[in-house]
Amino acid sequence: MSGIYIHIPFCLSKCAYCGFYSKPSLKQKDAFREALGREIVSRKDYLHGEPVETVYFGGGTPSLLMVDEIGALLDLIKKHYELAPDPEITLEANPDTLSLEYLKGLRALGVNRLSIGIQSFFDNDLKYLSRRHDSQHARQCVKMAKDTGFENISIDLIYGLPTSDADQWNKNLDLFFEMNVPHLSAYALTLEPNSILTKQIDLGKALPVNEEDAVRDYEILCRRAAENGFLHYEISNFCKPQHQSRHNSSYWSHIPYAGFGPSAHSFDGVSRQWNSSSLDWYNQKIESESLTPEQQYNEYVMLKLRTMWGIDLKYIKRELGERFSTHCERQAEPLITQGRLSKTREFLYLTDNQMLFADGVAEMLFW
Ligand code: SF4
Repeated sequence: MSGIYIHIPFCLSKCAYCGFYSKPSLKQKDAFREALGREIVSRKDYLHGEPVETVYFGGGTPSLLMVDEIGALLDLIKKHYELAPDPEITLEANPDTLSLEYLKGLRALGVNRLSIGIQSFFDNDLKYLSRRHDSQHARQCVKMAKDTGFENISIDLIYGLPTSDADQWNKNLDLFFEMNVPHLSAYALTLEPNSILTKQIDLGKALPVNEEDAVRDYEILCRRAAENGFLHYEISNFCKPQHQSRHNSSYWSHIPYAGFGPSAHSFDGVSRQWNSSSLDWYNQKIESESLTPEQQYNEYVMLKLRTMWGIDLKYIKRELGERFSTHCERQAEPLITQGRLSKTREFLYLTDNQMLFADGVAEMLFW
């Protein structure tokens, strides 16, 4: 099993809060596509012929590529990699780039999962985030996606916004659940260093972000998701049964993946590689690191603690050795006493009220 990630580094404009690598111009799109195609072919042995179960177009705004441009990339993958019989093929899309015609074209190519960056169904939130779409278009594009036969749809929402209160966040969730969409990714608004929003807040030109709003909204989110039959399978991800993102789940399960395009990361099962964050990435050295057993342990703890599957102590003992499983158990003991972790048989889980503090708890378990 393996996966492929393709980073499309273009957007029509830069959102105020954005911390991703993307360029607010399409001027270099053709040169980029050519370089991307060369990279996909030249690294064809990276996955050692493992069947590719998932392909993920992320960005940036992948829906800025034309249908035939996405088709050409998928053709290259089919030609040079072993595509599994029923692959999950996801494309991230922004509402302002979607049309009925475009969605039909994606379906015809075999794209079978859409991740739509809606962020909020309210115009005051969208304006604060400087998104290009409005609430009406946010609703329309979900309907269009369903009308063209997309069943596997995920919506991104952002919570903890100073333009929203608990009532508005609840209404956002009402709209999401009414749409009968099987997957939700919800992220707290974070202030990225050097983002436009961070600068605006520093200058007093935008409303400041309050961490307590994020805690309040997250509690509402977890409760409403459970009431609506959604599994909380990762800190920021919720789905109806059988609708986990297969691609993201494979990251948390240490399945190898190849990442193409600027800033994309790859993992071959032993070491990690990452491309430079530049449109000239193809001419630059791929950075690489092999993980020591201590780093492998820390990474396993950090990734698994975020999921509903938890930390498997037997897995740690088997794959990394007893000294790591013993260390993990010893470090976990006070956290279990404090109610921050729970233990069921050989698995350690975050308790519900610790979900937002996963990174801090993981650090306490680190080697
Ligand atoms: S659409 Fe996404 S990647 Fe592009 S600027 Fe906005 S947040 Fe960043």
